[in-house]
Amino acid sequence: MKRILVAGAGGFIGGHLVKELIVRGNQVRAVDIKPLNEWYQVSDNADNLVLDLRLKENCYRAVNGYNEVFNLAADMGGMGFIENNKAACMISVLINTHLLMASKDCGIERFFYSSSACVYNGEKQTDPSNPGLKESDAYPALAEDGYGWEKLFSERMCRHFSEDFGLTARVARFHNVYGPHGTFDGGREKAPAAICRKVIEAGITNRKEIEIWGDGLQTRSFMYIDDCIKGIMNIMYSDINEPINLGSSEMVSINKLVDIIEDIAGYKLKRAYNLEAPKGVRGRNSDNTLIRKYLGWEPSIPLATGLKKTYEWISQQMVEQSNRSKGTSRYNR
Ligand code: NAD
Repeated sequence: MKRILVAGAGGFIGGHLVKELIVRGNQVRAVDIKPLNEWYQVSDNADNLVLDLRLKENCYRAVNGYNEVFNLAADMGGMGFIENNKAACMISVLINTHLLMASKDCGIERFFYSSSACVYNGEKQTDPSNPGLKESDAYPALAEDGYGWEKLFSERMCRHFSEDFGLTARVARFHNVYGPHGTFDGGREKAPAAICRKVIEAGITNRKEIEIWGDGLQTRSFMYIDDCIKGIMNIMYSDINEPINLGSSEMVSINKLVDIIEDIAGYKLKRAYNLEAPKGVRGRNSDNTLIRKYLGWEPSIPLATGLKKTYEWISQQMVEQSNRSKGTSRYNR
């Protein structure tokens, strides 16, 4: 049995990861800055701690006595959040820096860092039919302002802690992850959850129209959470020493994403395109050549399958929210 720290355990991916690590028989410490009642999932048999991991002393407290660290903690969200909170995103550099220092000093055997496709050079993402970003496309560096630069810097910090101090560090560049037990409202949500919510809301309130950010022609790929967790585990316990893509290569336009969600809902809506809204790069996809080479595997859960489960979960959450505030909920009007 290993003793494993999950930083950011109250968040979407961290919550799923804690569950998986417990199923695999590990002793898990789950840490997040949010109060416990705001965590997406709480595993009773983990050691659940509320700590601000930007603070060095809290990182030492969290890491001490443990064997491995998964760092999923970051102040982040979808485009709407990262475009308007660049300083907050960059301050997450303190979390990874202090976790690395504590890991080195406390003899951590393996360290995982969750990087992002936002590290990629923006000039390589101007074409909606992007053939896929290779790992080398992060350089010359022109990352997403704020959030992406922090991720790129933290990736390099992992590399130098490996080279200079012998820490075994693994870095995965996640491409949009979606699924149940994640953010779907409040401003930090990403496109799949946001569009599910808007479509469900339109159905409940009998509105015939939804707002789409941008012209709907921008492209992305979306990875279902089960693929993400499998990939994190495979990468952590591999001997891959360089940052590697962890994403689906099923690229779709935002319009296509809406089509799939409307099919699940069983109705069509008029689309009001908001060209002023934050929309990010024009085209982004994951080139999975390297992950296939190293692991003989790549994320493969079809978007329509994952979206159905996500839609059902969000729908259920919205019904519960509405029942909790019966009569006053915006979904009841
Ligand atoms: P999330 O926001 O649901 O989870 C992140 C968690 O970190 C939150 O619960 C938050 O409270 C916690 N946190 C923030 N500041 C903290 C602090 N100072 N101390 C302790 N905890 C703190 O996000 P997620 O989708 O689960 O993402 C997990 C990781 O994966 C993040 O590093 C994110 O940047 C990265 N990532 C996610 C995606 C995606 O599509 N979800 C894509 C690329 C990269």
